[in-house]
Amino acid sequence: MKMLLNGEWLDRPRQMDVRDPQDGSLIDTVPMASAGDMLAAIEAAVAGAQRARCLPTHRRMAILQQGADFIAAQHEEYARTIAREGVKTIREARKEVSRCIDTLRISAEEARRLAGETIPFDQRPGSEHRVGYFVREPVGIVGAITPFNDPLNLVAHKVGPALAAGNAIVVKPDSKTPLSALKLAEALLSSGLLPRGVLQVITGKGSEIGDILVRDQRVRMISFTGGLEVGQDIAGKAGLKKIGMELGSNAPVIVMPDADLELAVEANVSGAFWAAGQNCLHVQRLLVHDAIYEAFVDRFVARTRAYRVGDKLDEQTDMGCLINEAAARRVDDMVQEAVAAGATLLTGGNRWGTFYDPTVLENVPASCSLACDEVYGPVTILYRFRTLDEAIAVANGVNYGLQAGIFTSNLQTALRAAAELHVGGVMINESTDYRIDAMPFGGVKGSGLGREGVKFALHEMTEPKVVCFSL
Ligand code: NAP
Repeated sequence: MKMLLNGEWLDRPRQMDVRDPQDGSLIDTVPMASAGDMLAAIEAAVAGAQRARCLPTHRRMAILQQGADFIAAQHEEYARTIAREGVKTIREARKEVSRCIDTLRISAEEARRLAGETIPFDQRPGSEHRVGYFVREPVGIVGAITPFNDPLNLVAHKVGPALAAGNAIVVKPDSKTPLSALKLAEALLSSGLLPRGVLQVITGKGSEIGDILVRDQRVRMISFTGGLEVGQDIAGKAGLKKIGMELGSNAPVIVMPDADLELAVEANVSGAFWAAGQNCLHVQRLLVHDAIYEAFVDRFVARTRAYRVGDKLDEQTDMGCLINEAAARRVDDMVQEAVAAGATLLTGGNRWGTFYDPTVLENVPASCSLACDEVYGPVTILYRFRTLDEAIAVANGVNYGLQAGIFTSNLQTALRAAAELHVGGVMINESTDYRIDAMPFGGVKGSGLGREGVKFALHEMTEPKVVCFSL
């Protein structure tokens, strides 16, 4: 595919291969953009931002709704692209396509509601006889840098709100999965209503062209989704502009003795192994009460062993591969480190090529990377606890805080956990891997800064402007 720069689909002599990570087969090639291409895109976005802010709301809505219609009409084609270039099975990919359609439609609806407020200036003595309001103006140019694990919907979470708010946006998708982002742009151009330079997708290496987008002061917001390390690097380089950071996690789920055991097992197996664990909401730590520990673990391990790992395009497959062999080796290293430190491997622990078995361990020492860092692979570790205090302390004891979960039938317990878990979202009787695209989404501590979820991203991508009449 070609990249989208200033309204034109362009090729470049330098190309990047897009390969299926499960067997290395070539799917397509895309241009490897140069620093000059990124600068040209930012230049085009300066004019694009002027055009975008003048787009009437009904036009912004039509672009987004027609983009959603376009994807809905080719649902399976979009799902196959995700499943081939990324790590999801075809069944997982179809869900991502449906959610992307939702994200675009919600963005169109939120454009309608992008209203300001009147301000009672006379609350301060001496400030009587004034009337006024604030409106939400677009920031101008948004730079979006996105990861490989949800290559369509996580791009839509930046593009949808940016267009709804009247911004121009330059997207730098992950170099391993650029096709879904380019196809999203194709859908949004399909209405013929999107002016030149408002949406651009520049394909290339983050280390080569990302810096230019991040440092340029004409870009007024960087919206980044990816790992903590890159996020910190970007935050250090961005200078005086807005930043939105959706980073990693090490998500905990607590299972209380009064939980529905079947529900807890099913939800957490799915939460642990969705997208082969390459998911910021991946259930990495399962904290199970002593009274039900054996019963829960037996069922959880049995369900894990029944998981079918293999070809992502096979309808029967439950779990696919990791994004590359280096990622699979990194996961294996973390498992081996824990085993060497005394952890017990209950199932899994095998790597072949880019595949890694769904893996469960217990007795992992707190100092191991599996306990404190993000594994970003199909590995879940079990803890036994006796009191809720103890479970909450373990859950909060890492430098991440995206979402947490608790399974219980006791309202008091649920509400206490909701209040005391230090995260962006607490799921009660759900695994951490639960999200709808309209809810505020983001983390605390090393999990990020700011919130996505269409309405919330839209607010982050605007600046309030006050207008005051002295009468
Ligand atoms: P990553 O290595 O941080 O890469 C993410 C993006 O950043 C890619 O497009 C990458 O480009 C780009 N990049 C790399 N170095 C850069 C630099 N120096 N300057 C600018 N951009 C740069 O993350 P990943 O391995 O793809 O994704 C995994 C992480 O994302 C996990 O930690 C996961 O939890 C997190 N994540 C968070 C959320 C959330 O909503 N909180 C959602 C999904 C994923 P290239 O790779 O193309 O070079």
